[in-house]
Amino acid sequence: MKARHFFPLILTASLLAVSALILGAASTTPPPGATPEPPPQPPKPLAPHVPVAWKAGFAQADVTPDKLLWMAGYASRDKPAEGRVQSLFAKALALEDETSGRFVFVTLDLIGVPQPLRHRVAARAEKEFQLPPARLLLNASHTHSGPQLRSTPPSEEELKTERVRDTWEYTQGLEEKMVAIIGQSLAKLEPARLTYGHARCGFAMNRRRDYSLPADHPNANKAPNPDGPVDHEVPTLRVEAPDGTMKGVLFGYACHSTCLGFYNYCGDYPGFAQEYLQQHRPGFQAMFMTGCGADQNPYPRRSGVVPGVTDLELAMQHGRSLANAVEMAMTVNPRGVVGPIRAEYEEIELAYADPKKPLHRYPVQVVRFGADLTFIALGSEVVVDYSLRFKKELAGPADIWVSGYSNDYTGYVPSLRVLKEGGYEAAAGWAEDVEDRIVKKVQEFHQKVTAP
Ligand SMILES: [Zn+2]
Repeated sequence: MKARHFFPLILTASLLAVSALILGAASTTPPPGATPEPPPQPPKPLAPHVPVAWKAGFAQADVTPDKLLWMAGYASRDKPAEGRVQSLFAKALALEDETSGRFVFVTLDLIGVPQPLRHRVAARAEKEFQLPPARLLLNASHTHSGPQLRSTPPSEEELKTERVRDTWEYTQGLEEKMVAIIGQSLAKLEPARLTYGHARCGFAMNRRRDYSLPADHPNANKAPNPDGPVDHEVPTLRVEAPDGTMKGVLFGYACHSTCLGFYNYCGDYPGFAQEYLQQHRPGFQAMFMTGCGADQNPYPRRSGVVPGVTDLELAMQHGRSLANAVEMAMTVNPRGVVGPIRAEYEEIELAYADPKKPLHRYPVQVVRFGADLTFIALGSEVVVDYSLRFKKELAGPADIWVSGYSNDYTGYVPSLRVLKEGGYEAAAGWAEDVEDRIVKKVQEFHQKVTAP
């Protein structure tokens, strides 16, 4: 198949109609007889009391494939993409503290961050921009409406297959764009103040059944489980220019990006949340980091559940709901965040239950901003128990932000509870000390970055 450009006009038109419907309340004139609302006020500085203790730089690249590639996320896919309803982006936020310590976040509207890609990007960022690997965090939104990625170079034989060749070409192009935006964000560092805030958003529900109930209990097979563990927190790091202009926000949520199962490129609910946050703020960059959402799905979910509402409309609705929580978190009692940055990164060894399987090198990253904010970033698809545990056990003066889907993409990482219960998220076959090994490393790193 040759490269084809595509213009899904019908989809775009219906999308606009849906947008108009959803945004209608905010943008239309009032009905006859109603008093017109005063126009929106110009934005005002939200945190003038917070010192300008940072430099910040943003950059982004459109990473929507220009070909119709095979898509990631569902094993059941039987054909390549057919179009696009939303562009996919790689975005970078570079920060520099008052001691010239730097850190870069990169977020992707893609299925995951294959570890070999992480290694290549981190090595190049170190060589080209003197950014130590511990100072780079890569996170993916886990959208199931993006292209497949290829971790390692294909063999000569494999390269004869168009699908392999296209996917490898795409991944190589992605690597170039990721390195480029890291460099651009560092080159654009400008004075900034940072604030942290969090709010809640409720559409994530635990998708596993309640294994603690006896099999004959009427709720035993209820999945999703409305009483199952969730992490509804929406952490936000807001970046503001010294004059109060909002420059961007990094925000998180712990939920699968699986509103959609169609054959169009789309960022799913995180794509829409980012789009809505940017909509009325020229030059503002919104960036999404997935939390420990491996056992969480967005609900209501899938066509037919809500009469007359499509999957795409549900993705937009959840995106709107998340964007609303971010707006709330950014504006209600923002907490000033100062440096310095301290960061630890290591790939620890995780074992499988089958001793013949090779150990997996699993990335654990802990980053602290002053005494204000601690990021814990774990590789692959991490269940919610981890973020709930860390937020409880490491609670202190600093807020704690836990992400999964960072720096690695090798499948599900269950807690000991989930591993023992079994089910989909336990199927990777890890040894029973998987949680213990990860938690020990996080605790060790947390002590290091917290030590005086
Ligand atoms: Zn997943």
